[in-house]
Amino acid sequence: WTADFLSLDQVPIWTPSGQPTGDQSHPANEALNPKISLFRGDITKLEVDAIVNAANKTLLGGGGVDGSIHRGAGPLLKKECTTLGGCETGQAKITGAYKLPAKHVIHTVGPIVQGAVGDREREGLRNCYSNSLDAAVQNKLRTVAFPCISTGVYGYPPDQAVDEALSTVRKYLEEHHAQLDRVIFCVFLKSDEDLYQERLPRYFPRG
Ligand code: ADP
Repeated sequence: WTADFLSLDQVPIWTPSGQPTGDQSHPANEALNPKISLFRGDITKLEVDAIVNAANKTLLGGGGVDGSIHRGAGPLLKKECTTLGGCETGQAKITGAYKLPAKHVIHTVGPIVQGAVGDREREGLRNCYSNSLDAAVQNKLRTVAFPCISTGVYGYPPDQAVDEALSTVRKYLEEHHAQLDRVIFCVFLKSDEDLYQERLPRYFPRG
């Protein structure tokens, strides 16, 4: 028997191992590391204040993580989403989570990458993370889980997306750590778990 949802205590806090790896731009900050988790699995199972949805501009549902979230939440999620008037790339909108164990869903729209990643795509992806965290903080939500936004059908190369995700969350937590208890990077693929394991120590190094 396995629970069909996971509470926050079942998601381990990320602890940096090995040598200190921080550089000048991301020195060790012991206040931030205990607020980070890396979890591999289905984001719809997480009992957190908010899960982030990698949605499309219509906010009316799609494939990938978006499809799983809508399936798990049930039809009332789509009903609420129809009232939101869509969402622009990089923006974020919050709804209830209905039948999901999370309390809310924060819908954000990642950039679509065709060819090389440019400033526009990088900025769009960074905005997804910072605007989603803003939506959480504005609603007094303290635990937030992110999928690997844009790295599925939207085509953002995962090894570039991870750096934007981690550096944006690091910066955000430096400014708002009192308002957030945990940010969970919820990866789905083993390859993304490996990437995050490799890069996390750069942005959240041990002291
Ligand atoms: P996008 O359109 O933003 O690229 P996708 O849903 O296609 O969004 O993919 C984003 C990421 O979400 C991918 O890494 C994919 O493997 C992952 N993913 C798919 N289903 C789930 C899920 N149930 N929980 C967490 N991550 C998921």
